[in-house]
Amino acid sequence: MKITSGSTPAYVGRFAPSPSGPLHFGSLIAALGSYLRAKANHGQWLLRIEDIDPPRAVEGAADDIRNTLENYGLYWDNRVLYQSQRFDAYQQCIDRLLQQGDAYFCQCSRREIQQNMHGIYNGHCRHLGLTEGAVRLHNTQKVAAFEDQLLGSIHVSQSFAGEDFIILRSDGLYAYQLAVVLDDAHQGVTEIVRGADLLEASCRQLSLYRQLQLPTPAFLHLPLACLRQGFKLSKQNHAQALDKKRPHLALQQALAFLGQAAVIDDTSERMLAQAVAQFDMARIPKQTERLISD
Ligand code: GLU
Ligand code: ZN
Repeated sequence: MKITSGSTPAYVGRFAPSPSGPLHFGSLIAALGSYLRAKANHGQWLLRIEDIDPPRAVEGAADDIRNTLENYGLYWDNRVLYQSQRFDAYQQCIDRLLQQGDAYFCQCSRREIQQNMHGIYNGHCRHLGLTEGAVRLHNTQKVAAFEDQLLGSIHVSQSFAGEDFIILRSDGLYAYQLAVVLDDAHQGVTEIVRGADLLEASCRQLSLYRQLQLPTPAFLHLPLACLRQGFKLSKQNHAQALDKKRPHLALQQALAFLGQAAVIDDTSERMLAQAVAQFDMARIPKQTERLISD
């Protein structure tokens, strides 16, 4: 039986892919890194499908992601959470923030913000009493720095940190920042392990945790797999889908990318068990980007 002391909650980690296409090597880094960290801490590893944007969801992509994870031996705990089933929770939160005066409607266009406000929203609509449009958080909990578990102190500009950012888009879609915070809190996630492309997003999310008075998780950002400097591997630049039938090579490459020792070629389950046993966080490169050798 696992014993956890009253003050330290058991570790809960997660992987939260968007179903916009098949998993690629970049997604495998986030999946494997978060899995190893959770399992090395004897924790749970949850799967959340971020289908918050139904028009962008690719038919069959969520099933394909689940199959790929299973073929790679990356079995998740509990039931998969789908963001598309959480719209009521997001809406309730927005309604409450609006009622409390902690959020407001805004009708400024991206262009106006770019041209008149130098790209950082200046609170123009805060006291206009608009009743439709996008919804912005009245951001009273500026977070300009946090301690990343791998990278150490992370800083963003004061103006970015204090921006009233969007929580409901003008097209009616829920904003990623809001959904991810409500879901990570709902699922009891204690540490968020993901790619370093979301470092700045973490400041926004910390503002939301504080404003909503939710317990704050730890953050650990892994180096991003890049084709060349500044170009991350992504669906947009046609990253190759992971080979579902041959997980071994990609698993070894992902372990090497994360600075981990190689494992003996075997079933993916046994390879992962060995990788968990020898997982060493100190070996993960403390970088926001890493080139992949082709
Ligand atoms: N769904 C996001 C993505 O695919 C990841 C969100 C997160 O890990 O917080 O990039
Ligand atoms: Zn506005």
